[in-house]
Amino acid sequence: MPIHEKSLIRPENLKTHEELVIDGVDVSGHWSTFIESRVVSDYNEAMEDEIAALPGGENIHRCWQCGSCTNSCTVNAINPDFNPRYWIYLIRMGMEDELLRDKDIIWQCVSCNKCTYACPRDVFPEGVMKATAHWLERKGHTPKSPSMHFDEVFTEQVIKTGKIEESRTIRRFFSRTKQGLMQPWMIEMVKRLLRNLPVGLLTRMGLATFVAPKTRGWSSAAAAMQEYIDEQHEKQEQALSS
Ligand code: SF4
Ligand code: SF4
Repeated sequence: MPIHEKSLIRPENLKTHEELVIDGVDVSGHWSTFIESRVVSDYNEAMEDEIAALPGGENIHRCWQCGSCTNSCTVNAINPDFNPRYWIYLIRMGMEDELLRDKDIIWQCVSCNKCTYACPRDVFPEGVMKATAHWLERKGHTPKSPSMHFDEVFTEQVIKTGKIEESRTIRRFFSRTKQGLMQPWMIEMVKRLLRNLPVGLLTRMGLATFVAPKTRGWSSAAAAMQEYIDEQHEKQEQALSS
C-alpha cells in the first residue's frame, strides 16, 4: 500500500531542475519537481514478531492500513510526524532504520485510546505504540521513557501494598525521573486541591504519602501477580533474543 501523507515526503528526496527542457517544453524549476525513490536493503524480518510478543502488540498483524488511527489521533493533531499508521507499516515491513528516525517521539502517545475505538480491525494501536516504545527501550535504541518509569512505580506500589495512592506514586515518579517536586503546574494543582477537596480526604492523602497503608491479606495476591509478571518477562526476553 502506498504511503500517501505529504508530511512523509522528506525535503532531501524532493528534486528540482533549475533548468530543464523536455521535447521543447520548458519545465524548469517547480514544473520539474519529482520525488526520488528510496532504496531499502536492510530489512529486520524479526521486528514485527518481536513487537507482537510485547504487551499490546499482539494484533499488529491485523492492520490493513486504513489510517483511521492516525486520523483520530490526539497527538497527530498537533504533530503530523506522530503517525501510528505509518509506524505500523514500517514495523510490518521490517524497516527498522526508518522507524528509528522517529524513535524519540513514539513514547509520546497519551493513551487516550481514540485510535482503539476508530480501528476497524481491532489492532489496538494504543497498545502497539506502547509495545513499540517498550521494544525501542529493550533494544537499547532509547533510554527508559518517563511513561515507562511511571508504569514501574505504579506497578511496584500495587504489588507492595495492594493500593494506589496518587500522592505517593507522583512523589516516587518525580524522584525516579530526577525531577523536582516544586514545578509550577504542580504548585497550581496542589493549590486547587487545597481549595476544592474535603479536609478529611486531603489529610488521608497527605498521610498516605509517608505511611503506606496496605490491603489486608494482600501477600498471596501480590505473589501471584509477581509470578505472572516474571513469567511474561521471561517470554518476552525469549522472543526478543530469538
Ligand atoms: S492512544 Fe496514542 S496513538 Fe492512539 S489516538 Fe491516543 S495518542 Fe494517538
Ligand atoms: S485504524 Fe487499525 S487497521 Fe486502520 S491503519 Fe490504524 S491500526 Fe491499521
